[in-house]
Amino acid sequence: MPPNYQPKTAIVTGAAQGIGRAIAIQLASDGFAVVISDIASKQDLMDVVAAEIKLKNAESQTLVVPADVSSEADVNKLVAKTKDTFGGLDVMVANAGICLANPILDVTIQEWDKLFSINVRGVLLCYQAAARLMIEQKRGGRIIGGGTPVMYLFRCSSLSQGASSIAGKKGSGNLSAYSASKFAVRSLTQSAACEWGAHGITVNAYAPGTIETPMLHDAEATIITPSGAGLISQLKASTALRRCGQPEEIANFVSMLASEKSSYMTGQTITIDGGIWFD
Ligand code: NAD
Repeated sequence: MPPNYQPKTAIVTGAAQGIGRAIAIQLASDGFAVVISDIASKQDLMDVVAAEIKLKNAESQTLVVPADVSSEADVNKLVAKTKDTFGGLDVMVANAGICLANPILDVTIQEWDKLFSINVRGVLLCYQAAARLMIEQKRGGRIIGGGTPVMYLFRCSSLSQGASSIAGKKGSGNLSAYSASKFAVRSLTQSAACEWGAHGITVNAYAPGTIETPMLHDAEATIITPSGAGLISQLKASTALRRCGQPEEIANFVSMLASEKSSYMTGQTITIDGGIWFD
């Protein structure tokens, strides 16, 4: 990073709950002015996150900006509002994402397009808008992609047959569309790192394993495991640490990525999964 990199302001998308919420709280406690962003229908939850941050430290600066990451206009407004309020942007955490658990033959084009509009277009728009401002500012920056895959995918193609076993990072199962969208983020992260490194901008991503968030509980309700056991207990059994991760354990890593401590790291997607092993 250029020596004048002094991180001050961070945007976190998908910050109303789960991993994004934990990242927003952690970055605020690291001293960042934090922009909490999520879809408009989660305004109340975003306000709660802002209040939690203030409760910990009344001096913390927060801004709540509803934005749909799949909308170019929304993302541009999000970054413009951040600049107007805090004078610039140092860290963009493109965390927002949705999950779809369907075998390939059941994925509709509408579902595929919706998933890609949020998980891939949304990340692209956040990366672009952040990089444009960071390049203009000439003080470097950190761009962090959210939730690229460590996938516990099921090898068998049919949920209705209920067969298969926990597999690894190979996209070969009932999270195929989700997995494809997250692999796109991994590739975009590497390309962006190449293109913006000369401006002192690093681009990295985190790849969570099984993290206890509303998304995981939704998946538990929809995914049938081969053994018929609950998804979460099955995943715990396939994890070295024998437990789900907590959102704060991802936030700790993002805190390091957002700091000067990761100054010589770019283009990486880092796995934080408690040691998921695969048969
Ligand atoms: P979550 O569903 O609990 O939270 C995601 C947030 O993103 C929600 O608040 C949601 O409203 C927001 N969001 C959805 N669509 C949006 C849009 N169009 N614009 C703006 N915000 C939008 O999920 P989480 O578990 O906290 O996941 C966070 C990220 O980590 C996601 O990208 C997810 O794919 C990824 N991830 C999670 C896990 C896990 O085990 N929880 C594992 C791997 C990857």
